[in-house]
Amino acid sequence: MDTIHKGLFLAGAWVEASGGATLSVEDPATGLVIAEVADATPTDGARALDAAVATQADWAVTPPRSRGEILRAAYEAMVGKADELALLMTLEMGKPLSESRSEVLYAAEFFRWFSEEAVRIAGSWAIAPDGQTRLWTMKQPVGPCLFITPWNFPLAMGTRKIGPAVAAGCTMIVKPASQTPLSMLALAQILADAGLPDGVLSVLPTSSPQQLTTPLIADPRLRKLSFTGSTAVGKKLVEQAAHQLLRVSVELGGNAPFIVFDDADLDHALDEAMKAKLRNNGEACTAANRFYVQQSVARPFADRLAERFAALVVGRGADESVHLGPLIDRNAVAKVANLVDTAIRDGARLLHGGASPSQPGYFYQPTVLADVPPDSTLLREEIFGPVAPISTFDTDEEVTATVNSSEYGLAAYLFTRSLDRAVRISEHLEVGMIGLNRGVLSNAAAPFGGVKASGYGREGGRVGIEEYLETKYVAVHIS
Ligand code: NAP
Repeated sequence: MDTIHKGLFLAGAWVEASGGATLSVEDPATGLVIAEVADATPTDGARALDAAVATQADWAVTPPRSRGEILRAAYEAMVGKADELALLMTLEMGKPLSESRSEVLYAAEFFRWFSEEAVRIAGSWAIAPDGQTRLWTMKQPVGPCLFITPWNFPLAMGTRKIGPAVAAGCTMIVKPASQTPLSMLALAQILADAGLPDGVLSVLPTSSPQQLTTPLIADPRLRKLSFTGSTAVGKKLVEQAAHQLLRVSVELGGNAPFIVFDDADLDHALDEAMKAKLRNNGEACTAANRFYVQQSVARPFADRLAERFAALVVGRGADESVHLGPLIDRNAVAKVANLVDTAIRDGARLLHGGASPSQPGYFYQPTVLADVPPDSTLLREEIFGPVAPISTFDTDEEVTATVNSSEYGLAAYLFTRSLDRAVRISEHLEVGMIGLNRGVLSNAAAPFGGVKASGYGREGGRVGIEEYLETKYVAVHIS
């Protein structure tokens, strides 16, 4: 496989870490180490920022068409290498090959989308209300960026940031998750082969994230931080960034409700529930985390969901017959098991699953729980596993209030045939994204992001590039 790179990608070159250390990457399906990757130090971080700063001015004036064409070439290369990239992703992250392939294509779409946006960065020209002055605005790249990404979508969480940053003319340092650095390192080579100039991008895996990123965030030459990960870490980074008044985007945790009304098409709701819950094995920020089903349809919904969960094959993602892979690590299994066990003690009824199979690797059975008490921790915390807790509700007002009582506000799923109800509830929910009779939201052409403890900023869509642009205004005197 020519996609495996184990060095740091530092300003266009593959190098060892300055300290010579490496970090181990495990296959979560076996718990075995599959690669040793260079472990970046703060010295490497400083060199990457020096390069990003040195390259910024030239990169900002590189023609937008050229920047777009680099993204387009990288898009084509990702699609061409989709199988190889998918296998690499499955080996380090665990998800089934078919899902890894989907992520590679989804990740590539951000490059295609932003290759088209690079040439549509526009300013404005207006006559001031007094008729004298002219108001000229221009959009310029923010400058050097730091991107910190999680392990659950090893490529897409990076391309959602790299795509618009390249299109806008920003340079960048990417710190991928230490558990899944291989996919991002492979992407660095693809971008280099696509013509990205040296210094525009560095990719620095590290086992010491805080030590690497703290000095970068404190450096006044850095102009933007974009983070995707947990709310707890996001809050710490926002605090650090406040000292420099750094521009920040944070895409954080979620607690998505999946609401099924009594007028919904139940077969369709079940099909979409399987995707909303089990895509990425439940390890998605947008995963359906709590199911609210209207009383009269709750029983058939729960029983039929349990039947579907019981038919799933759990195993190594690299085996094409498998539906669900392992969780990311031992701690993730322990966390999910603890949430389920506590809910059962609190009175939830186990319909399927509820245990880890006895096999090597970090597996947990797909699990359905009914009659979950409304105050259960399972309904408040991000589960990040294949567990569907089902509660019931009576009225639209009740379910809306319950959903909005969460500190999170990333995504919600609504299933109803009533347009009136769909519009009313969509307007009332405190979330950034809604799947209306759909269990999957992600689309490179749509604005992805949350409200409340799920963060701020939007990635993708027409607004995605704005995160990487500053508006400069010139007051023009006309005599
Ligand atoms: P995490 O623990 O917050 O880690 C995310 C990234 O931050 C990793 O690269 C991690 O490095 C790094 N990091 C951890 N502590 C740090 C520190 N003190 N300073 C600087 N960097 C630090 O989250 P995760 O477990 O990888 O990812 C799961 C979370 O991400 C979930 O909450 C999920 O909802 C959220 N997520 C949100 C979105 C969204 O768009 N809203 C999308 C995907 C995931 P290491 O890998 O070395 O720990």
